[in-house]
Amino acid sequence: MPPPLDNKLLDITRRYWGFDTLRPLQAEAIQATLDRRDSLVVMPTGGGKSLCYQVPPLITGDLCVVVSPLIALMKDQVDALRVAGYPAAALHSNLSAAESAKARDLVNSPGGRLLLVAPERLLSEGGSLLTWLKKIGVGSFAIDEAHCISQWGHDFRPEYRRLAELREHFPGVALHAYTATATPRVREDIVKQLHLHDPAVLVGRFDRPNLTYRILPRLDMVDQVADALGRHKDRAAIVYCITRKDTEFVATTLRTRGIDARAYHAGLDAAARNKVSDDFRTERLSVVVATVAFGMGIDRGDVRCVVHASMPKSVEHYQQETGRAGRDGLPSECLLLYSGADFMKWKQILEFGIQENQTTEEVFQAQLELLNHVQRLCSSTRCRHKALSEYFGQQYEPPPLPAGAAQNGAAGATTGPRGCRACDVCLSELDTVPDSMDIARKIISCVARAKESFGAAHIADVLRGSTQKKILDWKHDQLSTFGLLKDKSREAVLSYINQLLDAGVLDRAPGEFPVLRLNAASAQVLRNQLPVTLVRPKRIDEGASGSGGAGIGYDQAAATPLTPEEARLFESLRGLRRQVAESLGVPPFVVFGDATLEELARVRPGSRDTLINVRGIGTAKLAEFGDRFLAHIREYCAANNLALDAVRGSRPRSAKRASSEARPLTASRLAAAKLFAAGVSIEDAALKLDRARSTVTQYLVEYIMRERPKSIAPWVDEATYKRVRDAASTAVDRRFRTVFEKLAGEVTYDQIRLVVNHLKSKGEQMGYPDSAGVAAPPGVMEGR
Ligand code: ADP
Ligand code: ZN
Repeated sequence: MPPPLDNKLLDITRRYWGFDTLRPLQAEAIQATLDRRDSLVVMPTGGGKSLCYQVPPLITGDLCVVVSPLIALMKDQVDALRVAGYPAAALHSNLSAAESAKARDLVNSPGGRLLLVAPERLLSEGGSLLTWLKKIGVGSFAIDEAHCISQWGHDFRPEYRRLAELREHFPGVALHAYTATATPRVREDIVKQLHLHDPAVLVGRFDRPNLTYRILPRLDMVDQVADALGRHKDRAAIVYCITRKDTEFVATTLRTRGIDARAYHAGLDAAARNKVSDDFRTERLSVVVATVAFGMGIDRGDVRCVVHASMPKSVEHYQQETGRAGRDGLPSECLLLYSGADFMKWKQILEFGIQENQTTEEVFQAQLELLNHVQRLCSSTRCRHKALSEYFGQQYEPPPLPAGAAQNGAAGATTGPRGCRACDVCLSELDTVPDSMDIARKIISCVARAKESFGAAHIADVLRGSTQKKILDWKHDQLSTFGLLKDKSREAVLSYINQLLDAGVLDRAPGEFPVLRLNAASAQVLRNQLPVTLVRPKRIDEGASGSGGAGIGYDQAAATPLTPEEARLFESLRGLRRQVAESLGVPPFVVFGDATLEELARVRPGSRDTLINVRGIGTAKLAEFGDRFLAHIREYCAANNLALDAVRGSRPRSAKRASSEARPLTASRLAAAKLFAAGVSIEDAALKLDRARSTVTQYLVEYIMRERPKSIAPWVDEATYKRVRDAASTAVDRRFRTVFEKLAGEVTYDQIRLVVNHLKSKGEQMGYPDSAGVAAPPGVMEGR
């Protein structure tokens, strides 16, 4: 249960963001700011950190200064806030003199407002910005991406170190640190480095239930990447590679397969890079193949798929990069393809850093440790959600099963009776290799015959019968194990070797040449005394996991996909969003997020009254975009024969919004309820309330579900009631349309809607089967 919001707070989140509830810890984080108590807020990417520092100024009327490392992100955040009617500005070197003056004016004006600034800017300029801010008065400081202050973190930025100076310049002002990635060590370091005083430490859950994780050995990189992208056709996706060369290769190959992908890396000139990131932000481009440099400045919430074509260099990086998927809370997929070679590649890169004196030995060792962790994550075959949560020091609780859902047997082995239902392991996408024991013994004996003096790559080549020079030079073509696995791919053999290492039945010598060694367990395997099970990826069956992301929606919204009709409306709404965004010169997600468009497609609001109830639509956006979206929906529904103001059942969020407990009644709903209680007709109520008939009918449906009146005779005469009831109980499915047609169009949709809902409110069983896969009638309201 989200904590109850006090009225002022609720009023603000509704008005500016269109949110009725807060995410976990947001209320606590906001409270810490209101109490002027230092705080450290740790939430996963997409958890909603920004709201925590954006809300308080609107309550206190103060200025909040947000320190943020990336100028690119500032502009998007400022745009998004302005569109929502929030006074915000950023100061950075890319502003013209006029823009800069305008920003300063806004900061200098009274009332709650936000200033975004990079740390070096805040603390430099000969201290002039600080002096100016002292004069104006700062209510609070928000330090975004606070892990940048720690050298134990994965994104150390020396300029963050100076932020502690704020303590001396603004002695009475609280500092609030926000980060997505913090192991306990980094967390302590942030508190220490920023000199936080008795901070409220709020650590959220790291698990991202809406992400489906897949971690697979890399067999054929481009095939595997294309497969994953195919599960998210025409949707935003990011593919990460380690090297520039790989990004170019993957992007080019994908294009030959008809996927419009563009490469992005630091080797491109600034214009080319800007074009790619701009096209991506504005939805002219869906797929970017990039080195990790990409994404830092990208705030697109509707990224449906993040692929790591190679292993990332730390679990922290992985968490952050995959965190760019599904920020809007909708189901999304994260695929990681790894190979043993990735570890060596990263190690070389890190060693290069130390040779070039870019890192200290201490930092190098820390990085190496992070690299070891991510390799372990890759080669393990435990539930990915569980492994990630535990890495960040949290117990993992799988999400509850929806009522009536079948248990997933395969998941039982790893995460108790349920499993996460959102990773390759729990979705049983890994096949056990039938001749596991045989393969394991061949690998182990090959290591023995090669005198425990060679690395995994060489052993794999011997087993595959390669006649490369180095093999012939060592006369390894004469070993009895030569060519024993020639029917397997090199990547598969390497993956098996890694799995044996992971299972502890083979060792890798530490040091510069990581040669494979045997241990006591290896001997047991050779003697058939210790069983070993190897796995390999199954081809992912598309039906198995919907669009590949069977994750659970962030805000507990059921992951029920849109019906085909709704999906078509959704696509058409995306088109409208693009147009609106283009005309405003902002990226589309600034207008509305995908979660909002999905809800629009489901609910299909017919009036401003129902539109404002949609999550993500606050007062400013209602005023600015409301009419265009309403007109579009109305037109679309008329052309496609779809009902307006439908709230499909079995969808917790929508249902919650319709129920009296979760949504305080608006004044007009209350007034309507009074009239209905007195038996006033729809026409008269519409006149009295000065509302459209469709709105009043909607109010009446809600009233019926809420109050469950004994009879609805004032609105539907007895004969009609009986006719609808009989037709509904014998109709083949639950569609309104079916009932309507059964009655040969002699009874209006509205009357059918009232009767069916009344029957439901009385808990009356319908005669028709509640068969799966058949959509509930549009317009049917399920109150609880
Ligand atoms: P973070 O900074 O933690 O990565 P953001 O602040 O960018 O996350 O928020 C991620 C997404 O969640 C945004 O699309 C935001 O609008 C949405 N969001 C934040 N708070 C809420 C809320 N209380 N209810 C619904 N959506 C929310
Ligand atoms: Zn799992």
